[in-house]
Amino acid sequence: MRFRRLKLTGFKSFVEPADLRIEPGLTGVVGPNGCGKSNLLEALRWVMGEGSPKSLRGGGMEDVIFAGTAQRPPRDFAEVSLLVESSADGESEVTRRIERGAGSAYRIDGRDVRQKDVALLFADAATGAHSPALVSQNRIGALISAKPAERRAMLEEAAGIAGLHVRRKDAEQKLRATETNLQRLDELLGDQE
Ligand code: ATP
Repeated sequence: MRFRRLKLTGFKSFVEPADLRIEPGLTGVVGPNGCGKSNLLEALRWVMGEGSPKSLRGGGMEDVIFAGTAQRPPRDFAEVSLLVESSADGESEVTRRIERGAGSAYRIDGRDVRQKDVALLFADAATGAHSPALVSQNRIGALISAKPAERRAMLEEAAGIAGLHVRRKDAEQKLRATETNLQRLDELLGDQE
């Protein structure tokens, strides 16, 4: 999977719409302290389905929305779109939007989808929000000091099998529901005899 384009509006310090083309090869982001380099990486993680506000540097979910400055009022929403290209599915645009008081929602090519659908799309391509392909400042230290279970999760993501865990959980839930139905059916049949 290849990232082609990242569009941001109202996300953290990116109050004005920003449209970044991501060219083939290695991408580096350079600029003075506080200019928003980390915010770009956080926008990538966020649109890829990052659920935990803790792993983004803000506190609550809505902290990703431009909070305002002395000169500019805060925004009511933040939106990030990522255009990706994969050999299997061609081009798709994943969009996540959050509005104050209304939570966040996802779209793939304009269709409303669940967080899980977005997470699976990236997990299958081994580029999930926690992917080792995205290296932020404190990541190397975190990898070294990670507990074995955490390190295993990182390796599974790198190997592209993280999505299998989500599917297994789904399948187990369906199995349990079916077992309950079968039990109920047995009881009903028993009543009829
Ligand atoms: P450094 O090199 O020092 O880590 P950086 O280039 O990575 O800096 P970021 O950390 O991405 O910079 O950007 C920090 C800036 O983003 C700060 O000026 C901060 O005030 C601003 N910022 C973060 N969240 C918001 C928000 N919700 N609303 C407005 N501004 C925000």
